[in-house]
Amino acid sequence: MRKKIVAGNWKMNMTFEEGQTLTSEILNMMKDEHSGDAIAVLNPPFPHIFPVKKLIGEAKAVFIGAQNCSDKEAGAFTGEVSTKILASFGVQYVIIGHSERREYFQESNEMLAAKVKLALVNGLTPIFCCGESLEIRTAGTHEATVTTQLTEGLFDLSPADFSKIVIAYEPIWAIGTGKTASSEEAQDMHAALRSHVASKYGKDIADGTSILYGGSCNPKNAQELFAKPDVDGGLIGGASLKSRDFVDIIKSF
Ligand code: PEP
Repeated sequence: MRKKIVAGNWKMNMTFEEGQTLTSEILNMMKDEHSGDAIAVLNPPFPHIFPVKKLIGEAKAVFIGAQNCSDKEAGAFTGEVSTKILASFGVQYVIIGHSERREYFQESNEMLAAKVKLALVNGLTPIFCCGESLEIRTAGTHEATVTTQLTEGLFDLSPADFSKIVIAYEPIWAIGTGKTASSEEAQDMHAALRSHVASKYGKDIADGTSILYGGSCNPKNAQELFAKPDVDGGLIGGASLKSRDFVDIIKSF
């Protein structure tokens, strides 16, 4: 069975105090209220990682991730953080190729493929993001665009490595806009992605790959989205900054 995952992307938000409070609240609610098999992954800004991980401790079903990593192994790359450093701090997941990284930092599929490989070498689970702009959706070429992102970012991997990947489909027009993809639109794209994976790696690996939806997911729409057969969870931006909303999304499974 595929993993059900709800990953919170804090982006560039939260002071130290705010991050500690948010994490403590999430942990308490998870302990008191969460009985399902979905897991939470908290992806705070880099400086939060160690203290947040410490708070998580041995908590059940809560994991720590980073929002980005370097495409280089080590060395003179001021301001960058390698997957080896992340792993040494106990980081378990890393978001790779978020549309904000692709757009504002010109991250190409080639660079993302390098990041994915380094993440896997160092034992991190990549959450590989893909998604189309509104222009592309309107032109009707969204499926081709997103499957190409997968091909170029991931399809160099061996089957054993690919089976460790988590995919996040995030239509750019739905991120932070309050405009969610309908559950049918999400399902259609997730099914297309799964069949694209199957065409390269076979049905078993495709069936085992968790594909998350991201884009204005909230406690009101999560249940309908997560009920779709190919939607295995969410990558949550704005709503991950509110403990009540984030935990309610996890409980939507
Ligand atoms: C995101 O940036 O990954 C995201 C899904 O943001 P939001 O939930 O705020 O749309």
